[in-house]
Amino acid sequence: MASVEAYLETHRRMLTDLSDRIWSTPETGLLEKESSQALRDLLASEGFALQGVESMPTAFVASFGHGSPVIALLGEYDALPGLSQAPGIAEARPLIEGGAGHGCGHNLLGTAAAAAAVAVAQAMREGGLRGTVRFYGCPAEETLVGKVFMAKAGLFDDVDCALTWHPGTTNSVWATSTQAMNSLRVRFRGTAAHAAANPEDGRSALDAVELMDVGANFLREHVPSNARIHYVITDGGDAPNVVPAHAEVWYYVRAPRRVEVEAISRRLLDVAQGAALMAGVTHEVKLVTGCYDTLPNRTLGDLLQQQMETLGAPKYSGAEHDLARALQATVPADAVERELRRLRRHGLSLPPEGSLVEAVAPSSGYGEWDSGSTDVGDVSHLVPTAQITTVTAPLGTPGHSWQNVVAAGSAIGHRGMLYAAHVLAQATCTLCEHPDLIEKAKEEFRQEAEPYISPVRDLPGPPRG
Ligand SMILES: [Zn+2]
Repeated sequence: MASVEAYLETHRRMLTDLSDRIWSTPETGLLEKESSQALRDLLASEGFALQGVESMPTAFVASFGHGSPVIALLGEYDALPGLSQAPGIAEARPLIEGGAGHGCGHNLLGTAAAAAAVAVAQAMREGGLRGTVRFYGCPAEETLVGKVFMAKAGLFDDVDCALTWHPGTTNSVWATSTQAMNSLRVRFRGTAAHAAANPEDGRSALDAVELMDVGANFLREHVPSNARIHYVITDGGDAPNVVPAHAEVWYYVRAPRRVEVEAISRRLLDVAQGAALMAGVTHEVKLVTGCYDTLPNRTLGDLLQQQMETLGAPKYSGAEHDLARALQATVPADAVERELRRLRRHGLSLPPEGSLVEAVAPSSGYGEWDSGSTDVGDVSHLVPTAQITTVTAPLGTPGHSWQNVVAAGSAIGHRGMLYAAHVLAQATCTLCEHPDLIEKAKEEFRQEAEPYISPVRDLPGPPRG
């Protein structure tokens, strides 16, 4: 659609400024007041109807157009704690000690998805395109909350297809799945006593935490080998000479399928109960959140692949390659080499003297799983969903790193962001014009999706604090 291209071209500056504004005001999950407002303002000024989300003030849905199809573009804008970083330099230097930073590039993510929605709206106004385009303002992705609770609220029920993207180091369709997950806290309560004078009167909540962790570590041998169990002790008592009356441990359980996570979680809770019994204390389990694995829709993925190839990957300027090379030089060489090998397997390479990929990778990875989790998973089990990743950072730089904060706040990030916006907007237009494609995506979805049961069905609302 020519109007999509024209909109993105003429609004380049405004969109990169918006992304930089969100980068400069990094806000962590559920606290993205200014970031979500900045995106709301853009969408409202372009004639989108805005709808809030109960109990999540930084979540919203913005709609434009009428009737079917309803295409959802998913945006995120939360930052990560502890990643405050000065812009434009290739050394770790926090702007605010302990402050947050956009180490996952969600400043770009939210802006590109909103830009795509606005560009499609422009095509609807000018080109007679029919349907509804919706931007989903999804907070707290890093804590796997936003989309999970938006799904629970039924906000995706009338959506035909969902598209999104994530900043990255390659241009490709994100064809791999991600891990389903549960986040749960177990709090034990015992009886305080003088640890030397009368320990027989005390019952240690910390003993229960340690016994639970021992049990969980034995449990590891008897779960699928690709499952993961991680924990941190968030409360271990106050002083060695007081038998701890309170203690808490926080667990993540991950596995490729939701049913596996549910099964491992049940066994972990048996372990918690056993630990409480051994230590003679009581316990309470608090599910914080949970999410599904991602089900990538191949029909929609193929459409995105086609758009990526048609538009062609962005080329980066000399100055952008210089910054990228300097950032890449701060990363262990084997991490870069590993990524280079992966690139070569796809028949790709870095440009001479460059650290930024300037080609589109062929589609691959269906049926494989990444080790991390995302709440895009929940949407993907409700409606056909596909996502891409584009180059917003040098090859080999790790996710959630200060290097990625720098890249996401630079012209490197801007180029990947505008490319993502263009691909998503063109794909949305194609879906609006070709209901047969949507039907094909839905048929694939019907064959592959499991019935969706909200992982947080028993929770009154998103976690606070
Ligand atoms: Zn992210």
